[in-house]
Amino acid sequence: MNRVRVILLNAALGPLDYRASKDTIVEPGSIVLAPLGPRQIVGVAWEPERLQAGEVEAARLRSLLHVYDVPPLAEPLRRLIEWTADYYLAPLASVLRMTLPSSSALDGARTIVEYRATGLVPDRMTPQRAQALERIGERQGLVRELALAADVSDGVIRGLIKAGAIEAVEVSVDDPFPMPDPDHGPPVLEAAQREAARQFVDAVRAREFAPFLLDGVTGSGKTEVYFEAVAEAIRQGRQTLVLLPEIALTEPFLKRFAARFGCEPVAWHSGLRQSQRRRAWRAIASGDARVVVGARSALFLPYRNLGLIVVDEAHETSFKQEDGVQYHARDVAVMRAKLEKVPAILASATPAIETRQMAEIGVYKEVKLPGRYGTAEMPDIAAIDLLADPPPRGRWLAPTLVKEMEVNLERGEQTLLFLNRRGYAPLTLCRHCGHRFQCPNCTAWMVEHRLVSRLACHHCGHVMPPPRACPECHEEDSLVACGPGVERIADEVAALFPDARTAIVTSDTIWSPAKAAEFVGRMEAGDIDIVIGTQLVTKGYHFPNLTLVGVVDADLGLSGGDLRAAERSFQQIMQVSGRAGRGEKPGRVLVQTHEPAAPVISALISGDAEGFYAAETEARRDAAMPPFGRLAGIIISSEDLTEATETARLIGRTAPRVENMAVFGPAPAPLAMLRGRHRQRLLVHAARSLDVQDVIRDWLGKLDWPRGVRVAVDVDPYSF
Ligand code: ADP
Ligand code: ZN
Repeated sequence: MNRVRVILLNAALGPLDYRASKDTIVEPGSIVLAPLGPRQIVGVAWEPERLQAGEVEAARLRSLLHVYDVPPLAEPLRRLIEWTADYYLAPLASVLRMTLPSSSALDGARTIVEYRATGLVPDRMTPQRAQALERIGERQGLVRELALAADVSDGVIRGLIKAGAIEAVEVSVDDPFPMPDPDHGPPVLEAAQREAARQFVDAVRAREFAPFLLDGVTGSGKTEVYFEAVAEAIRQGRQTLVLLPEIALTEPFLKRFAARFGCEPVAWHSGLRQSQRRRAWRAIASGDARVVVGARSALFLPYRNLGLIVVDEAHETSFKQEDGVQYHARDVAVMRAKLEKVPAILASATPAIETRQMAEIGVYKEVKLPGRYGTAEMPDIAAIDLLADPPPRGRWLAPTLVKEMEVNLERGEQTLLFLNRRGYAPLTLCRHCGHRFQCPNCTAWMVEHRLVSRLACHHCGHVMPPPRACPECHEEDSLVACGPGVERIADEVAALFPDARTAIVTSDTIWSPAKAAEFVGRMEAGDIDIVIGTQLVTKGYHFPNLTLVGVVDADLGLSGGDLRAAERSFQQIMQVSGRAGRGEKPGRVLVQTHEPAAPVISALISGDAEGFYAAETEARRDAAMPPFGRLAGIIISSEDLTEATETARLIGRTAPRVENMAVFGPAPAPLAMLRGRHRQRLLVHAARSLDVQDVIRDWLGKLDWPRGVRVAVDVDPYSF
């Protein structure tokens, strides 16, 4: 008999031992199906010496039901999973879930049944059916996926199947992916690019851990340069993972990749259908998927033969996961590269202070590209002082900016207005009684969205129809929109330039790769004159005819006490500026601000990035803030306010006294209420040398709390 230790994919359970018949060898990393009470649960066999499990006598062990016919998770990945669970204080099972996204990917079936519209109109048409058919369009997927896409119940889809308006199709889930060709369309690199590429290519050949920071202004050719490293990995027959921050970014990236390598890479993100996910997962595990481009969740996949990891736009905040396992994909990527013994390239025009510091102390090797590729110059950045040059009442665009937009329109060049705020207005209030529309579940205002005509909470997704009258004082027509969102700026643009062709680019309008592709196509064809967008447009895109960028409110990110506020604003405005003048025509950037003298703004205008970063870094060092000190947040939440505050106080009172560590709070968390849960926070601040995780594990491990309370630790929190 063999005793096998298994981590089940259920965070509430510790490792359990099972029995395998004596002629079955269950290697560590094997994916198995195990009985648990009356249920069957997927799990992964692990080295017994690395995990404690409850003592069970051999005679009482239950037998494993099945060992899946997929390659076992390799040792470096097993170590990564342990490291992640340990570092971020998360259950092993929760980390494993990111490796094994669905049990259906594991069975050997070669096809999956999906559904799509036939074009037939059903005899009985209801509004729901009409909506379903309209929204499904050309889409194909499982019943559940179609129902979600169409925003109807599964029953409506099943009804349409019965009525013949939707039909079943068999989709193969093991068609091979095309093989990228490293020599399909190589660029001719400039000298500095060539030298940078050579270092990466050497590192890929060396098959050793080597972390790099690839630092160069927007448009300097960072992508072209790391593509050379990708080409080398392909030549070596090894896999590459490229992490990108946004799904909307993948589409232009895929096209560009195809131009360089002859076919698209394998994409991995939350928008995949189950059949696509299953096909990709199996190809990744077998090693057939040579280049995988993905969101942060692609980091934990079981690559068979990894040769290189690239994190593009490595400064992006969306690499920090804020739910579940609260990991930072940039940092885990470097750890994975270390365990897999491969190079990691972090590419950014505006690296995070943490990353710069690692380069500064020589842990990461910094590779710099000096300027933009070809004849393109960095754009001129100028400030518009909103006090000296104010927009008319009820408007947000200053006369100087409007004049420049007019010039641009006349020249037939494109303009981008940047405002990092979705919707029409961030706050709606009653002029009569002052009532403000707040989310019932969160400490957040309801944001008016006129395009879809409703108010929405950006934190929990709660929506309500736009009210006619004030719910408080019942006054009609008393509601006013306060402040601008992108939709409101779009209205202003339409009033100023009725003939201009505009597009709003936010996660509300660009919610799929296909939508992103459509937008890119229209921009490239010159069908758009003015884009109004949120941070979604600040990165990745390359539109040579875009020559003017207007930052509508540069002060927006600077309010609030967040230590990273200045850094983040600087990065965001640099990135959006980077969209201007990427081709032969020069670009210009106008930054609207009430505080032209603020350090961020003056650094942007003088182009003194180094000075700005140096001052920020010193401020962090003086306050022993990251990367010079460490932080961890402990979030205590409950649906019951008293329970949350009392538990938080109790946990706070039992804080251990440790040298080089201080515990602050409890205090209401930055979002004091989120999705119906009241949240309190304790903030742990410690010296770098201290193993904070160990202290916290010990501290919380001794405590109990009521069932309704959740305690989550956010190690290296992003905002604080
Ligand atoms: P970054 O990633 O630094 O923003 P990109 O790699 O996107 O820069 O390069 C900006 C633009 O310049 C892209 O259109 C790219 O194709 C082009 N480019 C950069 N280097 C070269 C080169 N050596 N040959 C041809 N085109 C290049
Ligand atoms: Zn909410």
